Parts: sequence; structure tokens; C-alpha cells
Amino acid sequence: MDLELSPEQEEFRKIVRAFAEEVVAPRAEAMDRAGRLDPVVLDQMAGMGLFGLPFPEEVGGMGADYTTLCLAIEELGRVDSSVAITLEAAVGLGAMPIWRYGTPEQHRRWLPRLAAGEQLASFGLTEPGGGSDAGALRTRATLDGDEWVIDGTKAFITNAGLDRSGMVVLAAVTGQRPDGRSEITNIVVPAGTPGYRVGRAYAKVGWHASDTRELVFEGARVPVANTLGERGSGLGNFLRTLEEGRIAVAALATGLCQGCVDECARYARERQAFGRPIAGFQAVAFKIADMEVRAHTARLAWQRAAARLDAGQPFSREAAIAKLYASEAAVTSAREAVQVHGGYGYMEEFPVARFYRDAKVLEIGEGTSEVMRVLISRSLGL
Ligand SMILES: Cc1cc2nc3c(=O)[nH]c(=O)nc-3n(C[C@H](O)[C@H](O)[C@H](O)COP(=O)(O)OP(=O)(O)OC[C@H]3O[C@@H](n4cnc5c(N)ncnc54)[C@H](O)[C@@H]3O)c2cc1C
Repeated sequence: MDLELSPEQEEFRKIVRAFAEEVVAPRAEAMDRAGRLDPVVLDQMAGMGLFGLPFPEEVGGMGADYTTLCLAIEELGRVDSSVAITLEAAVGLGAMPIWRYGTPEQHRRWLPRLAAGEQLASFGLTEPGGGSDAGALRTRATLDGDEWVIDGTKAFITNAGLDRSGMVVLAAVTGQRPDGRSEITNIVVPAGTPGYRVGRAYAKVGWHASDTRELVFEGARVPVANTLGERGSGLGNFLRTLEEGRIAVAALATGLCQGCVDECARYARERQAFGRPIAGFQAVAFKIADMEVRAHTARLAWQRAAARLDAGQPFSREAAIAKLYASEAAVTSAREAVQVHGGYGYMEEFPVARFYRDAKVLEIGEGTSEVMRVLISRSLGL
């Protein structure tokens, strides 16, 4: 399989890199401290068409492939994980199930504003009682005439509390299957629906500028026309969405790995100890060489998984491998990047301090490292 990027993809990468370096990076520390994204950044991302990348032009998208979306996420992740996850969660998790499982009428209704970045959709699967065991949901939706009545709580939901948060795509229990397991259905709940309350932003270890909320549903009513996909197909459709999303998280983690290489190479050339740049100490240079190996390998892993997805081939195993490898690589590289910076690495004015806090969640969100190992060992017949 050819993993070379096309000239158009290379050109697009350069455009996003320039935006990341010129617009995002200078604001990253302030956004992290403020705990929210600068609207200038979101507006420019919207203007560049990033929120519509993988959707066709007839619904306002750019008609690009999944690899191209991941390139954008990697480049943003190189300077600011909060910005990168905002894009990943809005497109890969929020809007993607509407595109994949929605009717033409639902596409017309929701996708143009999502693709334009005027609204962001969020993905409501995890609940306070558990995320890895996705089938054990408690949020219920009951039919009353031609409306769903929704009750329950969702935990750790990204992008639900922003000015431009337009809707959450939920997974809710809508009945019982003949085998006794829950029937799970996806339902779109627009922001502002009475009975749908967005909680306060969580105080997180990292990803400070990314919006993460608890969502509470108390008798929230939406028309049955907001059902996404077949009734009872909600768990399978969400798991498939997460499988794709893992490739994008691997791309984000690759960006963080690359950011560590770039920051450390620059610092190690400038910082002097014992009369010479610390880059001259093999102990330091080798740490940076190992970071480069991790960034390179993580990139190959996500590009291979994305190439399979784009070619319509099975990709679940490759996505799990990419997500596991890249997220653990990011945690290791961020820890080593702080070490290369010495005491300054522990100071917030250096990006590696933020990278260190931001890296950890990559081993948790969209399937923990343990769950990735379960999936990979199962793929080996274990
Ligand atoms: C910042 C942030 C943003 C998020 N955004 C979203 C979002 O937008 N939408 C959404 O739906 N969710 C979101 N999540 C939730 C995230 O996907 C879950 O946190 C994750 O899936 C883990 O679920 P949990 O937290 O309930 O942990 P648990 O499932 O309770 O796991 C706890 C521990 O047990 C381990 N474990 C569980 N089951 C097994 C098993 N079978 N074998 C081995 N080990 C196991 C886990 O690996 C973990 O170490 C977000 C989380 C965070 C932190």
C-alpha cells in the first residue's frame, strides 16, 4: 500500500502548518490559561474549511479523504492539542455519524452548518457509570407519540458547551433486544432543547482549552425524526465511529510527538551547559533521536490505518495499533521533552510543559490503552 502523500495533500499540510505556527502557536499558552479557545482560531479554522474536510461538496464540505483530515489534526496537534481535539471531536465524532448514518434530509438539515464550522456537534456516549463498557448505558429514550423523551447523564463530552455547540449525537437505550441486551439507538439532540442541560466545564489535567462537560437530560423531548440510523443500530454505529476516530487521535498524538522533537531540537542547540550546547551531550541527543523514531513510527501507523479506511479496506486492527502506539509514544516523548528542558521544562512558558499535561489523556479517550490491547489480542485470536 502506497503511503506517499499526494502533491495536494503535501500542499494542504503546508497550509495547515503555517496556520498552526502563525495563528495557533502564539495563542496556545494564553488559551490554555484561559481554559477556552480564542474565537479567532475557530473562525479561521472554519474559514479554511477544516470542519467540512471529509464531507462532500454538496453538503458544504471539502470532499477530502480521512487521511487529509488526519493531516490537519496532526499539524494542529504539533502546537496545541486542545485545538486539534476540538477539530477531531467535532468532525470525526460529532458530525461523522450524521454523515455516515443520516438520511439525505438529515444531511441537508445539519451538515451544511457543521461543515462550515458555524455549529459543532458533540458525541455523547460515555456516562458517569462507565465508558469502556459502552453497551452498559443507562440513558433512556422512550417513545411518546412521535417524540423521544430522554432521561440520563453523559460524562466527559467534548465541545458541548461552546457558543457554537449545535447538537449532541447521543447513544440511548430505547428498549430490549430479543437476546436480553439493551437496544441502543442514536438520537440527535439540538442545543437549547428544554430538559437538556449542559453542566460546568470539568477542571482537567490537560487539554485546558478544549471544552469538556457533563450533560444532563431530564425529560428532554426531540422529534422521532431526529433518530440517526436504524433503531437498535446505535451501539454498532458509535463503535465504528470510534474506530475511525482512533486513527485521528493517533494523528493528534503523532503531532504531539513531532512537537516534542521540534521544541527539544531547538532548545538543545541553544541551551549551554559546561561550555557547550546540551545537544553536544549524547545523553540529550539520543533522547531527541528516540523522539524522532517515535514520531516517525506513529505517523506510519496512522497513515497506514487511514489509507486502509480511505481504500474501503478493513482498518479496525490497524486503527487500534496506531492509537495504542502513538498515544503511548506521545506520553513518553512529552516526559522526555520536559527532561531535555530541565527546570524550564517544568515552567508553563515552555510548550513542553503543556505537552506533558496534554499527552496523558491520549491513552484514555476513544478507547483506553487496555481496551486497545484487548482488541489487538482478539485480532490475534487470543
Ligand atoms: C478529556 C476527555 C474528553 C472526552 N470526550 C468524550 C466525548 O466527547 N464523548 C464521549 O462519549 N466520551 C468522551 N470521553 C470519555 C472517554 O472516552 C472515556 O473516559 C474512556 O472511554 C474510558 O472510560 P471511563 O473513563 O469510564 O473508564 P473505565 O471504563 O471506567 O475504565 C477504568 C480503567 O479500567 C480499565 N478497563 C475497563 N475495562 C477493561 C477491560 N475490559 N479490560 C482491561 N481494562 C479495562 C480501563 O482501561 C481503565 O484503565 C472523554 C474523556 C476525557 C478524559
